[in-house]
Amino acid sequence: MGLRVFNTLGMRKEEFVPLRDGEVRIYVCGPTVYDFIHIGNARAFIFADIVRRYLEYRGFNVILVSNITDVDDKIIRRSQETGLSMQRISEIYSDAYFEDLDALNVRRPNVSPRATQHISEMIEVIQNLIEKGFAYQVDGDVYFDVLKFEDYGKLSGNKLEALEMGARIEVNPKKRNPADFALWKSRKEGEPAWYSPWGWGRPGWHIECSTMAMKYLGETFDIHMGGKDLIFPHHENEIAQAESLTGKPFARYWLHNEWLTVGGQKMSKSLGNIITVRDALKIYSPQVLRFFLISAHYRSPLDFNKESIEQAKINLEKIFNAIERLLSLKERSERGEDEEFLLAQVREAKKRFEEAMDDDFNTPLAIAAIFDMVRAVNTYVNRNGEIEAATKSEVYETIRVLLEDVLGIKIEVGKREKTRSDIINSLVELILEVRQEMRRRKEWEISDKIRERLQMLGFIIEDTPQGTKWRLKET
Ligand code: AMP
Ligand code: ZN
Repeated sequence: MGLRVFNTLGMRKEEFVPLRDGEVRIYVCGPTVYDFIHIGNARAFIFADIVRRYLEYRGFNVILVSNITDVDDKIIRRSQETGLSMQRISEIYSDAYFEDLDALNVRRPNVSPRATQHISEMIEVIQNLIEKGFAYQVDGDVYFDVLKFEDYGKLSGNKLEALEMGARIEVNPKKRNPADFALWKSRKEGEPAWYSPWGWGRPGWHIECSTMAMKYLGETFDIHMGGKDLIFPHHENEIAQAESLTGKPFARYWLHNEWLTVGGQKMSKSLGNIITVRDALKIYSPQVLRFFLISAHYRSPLDFNKESIEQAKINLEKIFNAIERLLSLKERSERGEDEEFLLAQVREAKKRFEEAMDDDFNTPLAIAAIFDMVRAVNTYVNRNGEIEAATKSEVYETIRVLLEDVLGIKIEVGKREKTRSDIINSLVELILEVRQEMRRRKEWEISDKIRERLQMLGFIIEDTPQGTKWRLKET
């Protein structure tokens, strides 16, 4: 079975079939660059990164476009508060955004279009919408007429009547219908403005994404992503604009991630409960943070608290430890009897990993499959000190590809502090070397004593023609 994804458009899991053979085009709503991104935002961007990586693992050529919103009320406000120009504010925070993505090993988008560099394209789209009768101009503002687009509400399930009721509080006499939304906003005092057929002004947020998505990915493309707050009104409006313009479906699959929460509440700037990626990285490594953020399924909320991130840290350590133990096994040319079993277990677990990811990117189950590999490796290392080179590299490569290439978690071995098991391994090797020397000198009493004492400590020692082998008794 192939990949299945939960499509918000239709609210069900569907088989994923890309528009073009072997190629997947993705649009991810990017940040509004007025501040540092927080780890809730990071959850959304990491999830998009994992979708991209997994599709590549599955052999697709992926093109990912993610915008930078660099004209917005929040940026204007920030500029007024700080006295810095709007350009400077967006420059500072878009640089910071890319630095944070890099730190989290989120691969950069193929294209990161900025809204302010696409104003003429947006004006053209708006003009077309007016000509086609989907939009109207009032005193330098342009609004989209939601009643003209029959499918309005198909993504969010919001019925127009409900919207009209809900919108009653915000009465804007310029709008024909309260649910209409702005495509172009006429200039206000102190705001940046561009010249347009409707006078000086600036584009609305929704038109930005529709215009840039179509410019870089075509009128119809495969996947559109973002956090679930974007379903309405942002994505609903993106669909309305694009589909009224082209008469074709806009994005075919809509994927939305759930919240990262704090004490059950959405992490958000307005609630004052955010932790920026920068601050989190002062305490936790990027690997731990990333591992934590994918430890829940993307459609389930994930609560950020000390215990759960500490748990993620411990779990990731277990994975790295097993990899380190595998790598430290001595290599030999022939295959031992436990190795077939180890390989079979690892290959089976790899299949489970793929099945989990094929089932709507179930990362917690995929991680469980990696833990099956970890257990198989540990059992092997407890019983053996050596491994055939080919087995070692197959097991290592399997884990590395899934962990690093697909989940984006760089393996950290070697540069970490030595673990207890490393120290135990080295100590036992040292004691056995001394014992070997005693045997060579025919100091049987001392060499037998060493063996006895090691056995009392739970080590099994076997003298073979190839040398002394040891393992820990299974507990
Ligand atoms: P914004 O810059 O606010 O548009 O957010 C950028 C992305 O982060 C959007 O896809 C949001 O939906 C997403 N996002 C914001 N807060 C959270 C959160 N607490 N948990 C998960 N995703 C979030
Ligand atoms: Zn968007």
